[in-house]
Amino acid sequence: SNLKIAIDGPAGAGKSTVAKELAQRLNIEYIDTGAMYRAVTLKLLDKHVDFSDTDTVVDILNSTEIQFENGRIYLDNKDVTEDIRSALVTANVSKVASIPEVRRILVSLQRKIADCKSVVMEGRDIGTTVLKDADLKIFLTSSVEIRAKRRYEELKRKGVKIEFSEVIEQIKARDLQDETREYSPLKMADDAHLIDASNMSVDEVVCHIIELLK
Ligand code: C5P
Repeated sequence: SNLKIAIDGPAGAGKSTVAKELAQRLNIEYIDTGAMYRAVTLKLLDKHVDFSDTDTVVDILNSTEIQFENGRIYLDNKDVTEDIRSALVTANVSKVASIPEVRRILVSLQRKIADCKSVVMEGRDIGTTVLKDADLKIFLTSSVEIRAKRRYEELKRKGVKIEFSEVIEQIKARDLQDETREYSPLKMADDAHLIDASNMSVDEVVCHIIELLK
């Protein structure tokens, strides 16, 4: 039958890198659910939708198509892989992800994607909500300094001018919003394996997960 691996954790813990590498080694599909919340956020921002106008938000979601193909994400058939990483989307995504109706629609889409194939699915609520029956659940974290440092280096590579202290504040703010939202907050599942990757390389984390699978 199909293999389902859930990877959750706070922003900047290296979930995407680990999940991608793991999926490649196991030759199964990698699904980045954060990218889906980002794509919805991008669309709502582009359309200047008031996030508290739930009816309009739901109408837009119901006429939205999100697809993954060859490591790219398509929003209504447009490649938005780079656009969803903008500072504006990053600053607004937790707000959009806290809307229960948005979560209900995306969770059902995520379950549908995982229904007929083996996946490594990465996000915040995969082990607790989306794939409660996953074969393996990982909660991946690192110290906030290390997570902020990774994000800071990434922004520097992109040529973004920002202070390290500001990146720490942004990461903390997003974690707080994700952990304290009322509906389906970021939380470790009771049956998840906690991995603190503060002092581990990507390869070490991936090897450790493969060991846990055996
Ligand atoms: O993983 P990434 O940082 O791209 O996720 C962006 C945001 O999407 C998170 O900060 C969180 O608010 C939201 N998210 C979520 N549930 C998921 C994945 C992401 O609420 N399963």
